[in-house]
Amino acid sequence: QCQEAPLHVAIVPTPGMGHLIPLVELAKKLVHLHNFFVTFIIPNDGTSMKPHKQLLQPLPKTISSIFLPPVNFDDLPENVLMETRITLSLTRSLEALRDSLKALTESTRVVALVVDLFGPAAFEIAKEFDVLPFVFFPANAMLLSLSFHLPKLDETYSGEYKDMIEPVRLPGCVPVQGRDLTAPVHDRKDDAYKWILHICKLYNLAAGIMVNSFIDLEPGAFKALMDENNIGRPPIYPVGPLIQTGSTSGLLGESDQCLSWLDRQPNGSVLFVSFGSGGTLSHAQLNELALGLEMSGQRFLWVARSPRDKAVNATYFGIQSTDDPLAFLPEGFLDRTKGVGLVVPSWAPQIQVLSHGSTGGFLTHCGWNSILESIVNGVPLIAWPLYAEQKMNSVLLADDLKVALRVKVDEKGLVSKEDIANYSRSIFEGREGKLIRSKMNELKDAASRVLSQDGSSTHSLAEVAKIWKDHKK
Ligand code: UDP
Repeated sequence: QCQEAPLHVAIVPTPGMGHLIPLVELAKKLVHLHNFFVTFIIPNDGTSMKPHKQLLQPLPKTISSIFLPPVNFDDLPENVLMETRITLSLTRSLEALRDSLKALTESTRVVALVVDLFGPAAFEIAKEFDVLPFVFFPANAMLLSLSFHLPKLDETYSGEYKDMIEPVRLPGCVPVQGRDLTAPVHDRKDDAYKWILHICKLYNLAAGIMVNSFIDLEPGAFKALMDENNIGRPPIYPVGPLIQTGSTSGLLGESDQCLSWLDRQPNGSVLFVSFGSGGTLSHAQLNELALGLEMSGQRFLWVARSPRDKAVNATYFGIQSTDDPLAFLPEGFLDRTKGVGLVVPSWAPQIQVLSHGSTGGFLTHCGWNSILESIVNGVPLIAWPLYAEQKMNSVLLADDLKVALRVKVDEKGLVSKEDIANYSRSIFEGREGKLIRSKMNELKDAASRVLSQDGSSTHSLAEVAKIWKDHKK
């Protein structure tokens, strides 16, 4: 191999657009700022790879992709948890991944293998080829802190975490109640818990962990994670916020209807309502949300999905649903809210919506990418967590950063229309809304500072790049 050949980085994303989107941004930075070549090696969980292709194809030639053959899940029970499926899509692809990485190392100078939070099982392959195993953690420092703490929690507490009386105190983080911990730890007998625990133990084998967050956002958590006395722990690099810069427009075939509608609304007047790439509500909750938005009188742009409990077969109404979500809204709702609200099915160009001047609030499921996108654009939040680590995120947003109103779920398991109307109004008006808006603007400024030429996140990524460049000298 020619020593002058460009250095190469392999990136292995596990299923989920929320993993792939920030990894693509990382790849762009590695290419543009540090002259690496990047190859995505993508496990296939058997679902359509079309959104992945749409995101990866327009990228420059320095970023290429290899799609691994689909894995077989015929043996899994129907109610298998999301986290088990994600982990297995990687572990069942390891042979194919080894072949791809072998071929890549034979033709290029691969210095690092980057996996996301579900990917540490691939470290062993990186080691075989003398490639540095790195993690890109597409979530916050608080979740990473829990990941390092979970093995100990597992040993010292034997009940279910939701029943804990005392909150969990992660170093440098706001206290979090057991019931608000990340979803896959809530049934300790489930395979998902066993996988998560196994992965948490593997993190220590990484050569480094990049985190899609920044020091000013989580100063306490990062200080504790980056403490030099953490013997046996990998170095931590806060490199965020990395948010999508291209458009995901067209990913699920939506039109630019949202943006032209926003163009016609007054500045800062619209509440954007969206539950990420996978969030769906029950039919009862969908109704309540519709009525609450209507009751608030507030302008809104709502990305609606078909409910998940309408039919006998729940998956029928999953993300891949071909049903028209608008058909599930309360009767007459669309007519009554015409002019005040716009409902679009399934997908919106979120980045363009959040950066649009008419958008003044965001009711979010608290996916970490959505949160970062809102911070970068200074948009105040209503936190409505649904799955994964979103409850922990909402605790960080509402209790620690104070940039969100957190919704309350009533005894029927619903967020009531009265409350929804209240939150929707308060985020725009009143004292609390004002405080949240000004806190959000501080974070927006900090986010832009850390990414400037001399900013802390820019420095962290440069440090990683230097380690990789030195690796095969
Ligand atoms: N997204 C989008 N349009 C949608 C829904 C989601 O562009 O209608 C993007 C969003 O901007 C974010 C990602 O998909 O970059 C979702 O990631 P997040 O971590 O917020 O949530 P997840 O979908 O992983 O739960």
